[in-house]
Amino acid sequence: MLETQTIAVLQEALQELDCRFAHLPPVPNPQPPPPGSEAAVSSVLHEVASRLGDNFPYFHPLYAGQMLKPPHPVARAAYALATWINPNNHALDGGRASTAMEREAVSQIARMFGWEEHLGHLTGGGTMASLEALWVAGQLRPGKKIVASSQSHYTHERISGVLRLPFEKVPTDQRGRMDLAALESMLAAGDTGCVVATMGATATGSVDPLPEILALRSRYHFRLHIDAAYGGYFTLAANLAPETRAAFDCIREADSIVVDPHKHGLQPYGCGCVLFRDSAVGSLYKHDSPATYFSSRDLHLGEISLECSRPGAAAVALWATMRLLPLIRGGEFAQGLEACRRAALELHSRLSADPRFLVPFIPQLDIVVWAPKSQSAERIFEQAARRNLHLALARLPGSFFGLPDEEVLALRSVLMKPEHEQWIGRIWEILDAASA
Ligand SMILES: *Cc1c(COP(=O)(O)O)cnc(C)c1O
Repeated sequence: MLETQTIAVLQEALQELDCRFAHLPPVPNPQPPPPGSEAAVSSVLHEVASRLGDNFPYFHPLYAGQMLKPPHPVARAAYALATWINPNNHALDGGRASTAMEREAVSQIARMFGWEEHLGHLTGGGTMASLEALWVAGQLRPGKKIVASSQSHYTHERISGVLRLPFEKVPTDQRGRMDLAALESMLAAGDTGCVVATMGATATGSVDPLPEILALRSRYHFRLHIDAAYGGYFTLAANLAPETRAAFDCIREADSIVVDPHKHGLQPYGCGCVLFRDSAVGSLYKHDSPATYFSSRDLHLGEISLECSRPGAAAVALWATMRLLPLIRGGEFAQGLEACRRAALELHSRLSADPRFLVPFIPQLDIVVWAPKSQSAERIFEQAARRNLHLALARLPGSFFGLPDEEVLALRSVLMKPEHEQWIGRIWEILDAASA
């Protein structure tokens, strides 16, 4: 079931890496292993393997629940290879090669959104990335409010709390997109410093109406932060609805963008990315470290990041993945995203044709939500899991389903593996049986 072919390639690459250090005097007994240690390591690893078996099968197409899947094999191998060196991308001294690779990888992501110039770096994830963007917003608009839609990730409210910035939620329309009239009346009060637009809300994949939000910016002059942690890469997909396409096409007008390579970018966890359009915000990160930077006059990534030590391995894995699967429209990676969206459209159309379900809107990305009319969502969730189909539950406003209830417990499926497209028939069979 699990991919193992890359292990042999990793071993060859490890030998190649070893050769690069052949000029050093040999260390006869590196960390002499105590007797029996190999057996001890083996025993611990077997225990780890057995413990890890206690997980949902995220790698399998029948896992169609939350935003989870394993990284691309090349990312896994490159990450592992880098750990033999364990570079730290805090400073050039800690990771010369991996810092260069981070710069190249981040520039490619910026270019995907249409930015030739930018300031940016990798982070531990979308939360840390947005923390930096909202921290910058707070520095430039001190005391002003951060606003985000009621379907935005809860992280923005919490981050605003950490930064001691006021925060307010903007209601959404029935499709989970930021409501423009509500936003405008908030803006008219004059105390908004930053609007967070979500491109792919976590629960529903809804995309905020960016062209209209930009039109409001020219009147109200707020900073615009894009949370594309989940959906960002979909800018490469050729099969978005026109309105969604229009929103993605103006991401480049934002002040800051967050995207998570560890969501749709095929990376192991621990890889988010923040980008700023104006590289002058780098001066806000100024600090005075007597110890860290001596080897170069270049700007170190540690000088433009709130996190200090960061895994060079994450940059290496991302670089390797993009070397194999460049971020280009029509490329293999983009085709994978298109397959995910087709899978979601197919599941949506089967659900819509079935009188047992209430189906609110056509998915904008690859996330489908629906509510059973006469059964509990929990029961279907459990019955499906018994048949090895893993879905997710989501509490959503009743208005999405045309219901008077304030909240509805709905089913949700994130179809983020390209293989899902081939498995929709099987997924549907199980869902049908589980809903009987
Ligand atoms: C996942 C997600 C986040 C949070 O990112 P982490 O990488 O989990 O810290 C923020 N916003 C959206 C829209 C997300 O989907």
